[in-house]
Amino acid sequence: MTTPQQAYQDLCAISREITLVNSIGGLLSWDRETYMPAQGAAIRAEQNAYLSGQGHRLLTDPRVGELLSTAEAGDWGADPYGDERANLREWRHSYDRSTKIPTSLVEEMSRAAVLGQTAWTEARRKSDFQIFKPHLAKIINLSRQTTDYIGYTETPYDALLDEYEPGETTANVKRVFEALRDELLPLVQAIVASPRQPRTDILNRDFPIDRQKLFGEAAAAALGYNLLGGRLDTVVHPFCIGIGPGDVRITTRYTQNFFNEGFFGILHEAGHGLYEQGLPAAAFGTPLGEAVGMGIHESQSRLWENFLGRGLPFWRHFFPRAQQTYPASLGDVSLDDFYFAANTVKPSFIRVEADEVTYNLHIMLRFEIEQAIISGDLAVDDIPAAWNELFTKYLGLKVPDDSLGCLQDVHWSFGGFGYFPTYALGTLYAAQFYEAALQALPNLEEQFAAGDYSALLNWLRTNIYQHGKRYRSREIVERVTGQPTSHRPLTDYLRRKFGPLYQVNV
Ligand code: ZN
Repeated sequence: MTTPQQAYQDLCAISREITLVNSIGGLLSWDRETYMPAQGAAIRAEQNAYLSGQGHRLLTDPRVGELLSTAEAGDWGADPYGDERANLREWRHSYDRSTKIPTSLVEEMSRAAVLGQTAWTEARRKSDFQIFKPHLAKIINLSRQTTDYIGYTETPYDALLDEYEPGETTANVKRVFEALRDELLPLVQAIVASPRQPRTDILNRDFPIDRQKLFGEAAAAALGYNLLGGRLDTVVHPFCIGIGPGDVRITTRYTQNFFNEGFFGILHEAGHGLYEQGLPAAAFGTPLGEAVGMGIHESQSRLWENFLGRGLPFWRHFFPRAQQTYPASLGDVSLDDFYFAANTVKPSFIRVEADEVTYNLHIMLRFEIEQAIISGDLAVDDIPAAWNELFTKYLGLKVPDDSLGCLQDVHWSFGGFGYFPTYALGTLYAAQFYEAALQALPNLEEQFAAGDYSALLNWLRTNIYQHGKRYRSREIVERVTGQPTSHRPLTDYLRRKFGPLYQVNV
């Protein structure tokens, strides 16, 4: 007869094994994106498929279900956020999610995703939605079936959102997004109409790539990203990956004639990296050693990249260093002109190139379209037209072709419905955390101007990083800020920052 304590220990061992399998898979994926020779793709696909199969088998083993039931019957104290109860809650969540969906559906989805991604790549290149359409229809159909197996209380989209932001609901996201949208639209319109505009040509001068790497790496290290437990490499699609304690890697890409891409890309990934490096190493292998979820992860990249890295206090310290690094390109530029240029707001078609103010409108559009797709209110044929109509309504631009419209992102081609909202939730959380940090540490921005970011990092480590998955996103936001998820801190921040820059008062 297994005791609850013994069952819990067994679950810890299984959880650690799954984490190890995933971390080996992660290392192989990192290598695929960075240094793998092109001809290694086939064997690498086989290696990764083997490891994910192994991880899935460990996770869905019926013994895990038995151990969970036994452990859950134990007395783990009154605190629902105590170590054991938090781990058990998260194990139960992932076990249920992965066992509710039949293996045949999982396999069908991964086949459809491989074919879907190939078709999407071609469709985007040729800007021809028809090439992607039959694959998308199949993927939508499989996603809908998935929602039926997983179950939901209000709307099928809840079941998909729960994959990326556990515990969050469509209704709550909708409420917050609508409030945000109503304030963003007039702000964007006022900025576009403002006669005061930045000199963006400053950022399109010559920035030698070897210098960009050194300058970006130095900035990441100054924020507190530990390069002895990390590294920075160049890739096509940048990402951050936590292999485990002592090994958290970031990547970026550079454009010689554009300052922002490499530099802010590095700060973004370093923000993810600081979070991963701040997770408690002793809890590695259990949910308490893992990040909360996509939204909180993105809150950290946005906080370090935008709230800190695009702020004037940060550049008071870093701009003289940027001038020393790029004397020919920045020697004749003032701090104010540079700061304004780095914070250009301009509606544009591509989400990943969008600025702080317009970015969330790109997400809301996707969120609305995804809900309509999953509820069946929007037929596949009508997606491009619906996209273009909403785009004009939100960003005031007419989409010239689908590669700049509904074909620009990879997410739908692998069935990633429910993923997009986490980008905007991350920005909202970042604004809430930043506001709370400024209240708790009133001299914060003076410290930034002096090149000292340790107080902010320590505050984030204490309040967020060290807890791993102890709390869900909504809970940690409320605990840290005293408020539920809200649009208010973000709109206050955007007005405070962009009002003076563009001399608008909305
Ligand atoms: Zn990110």
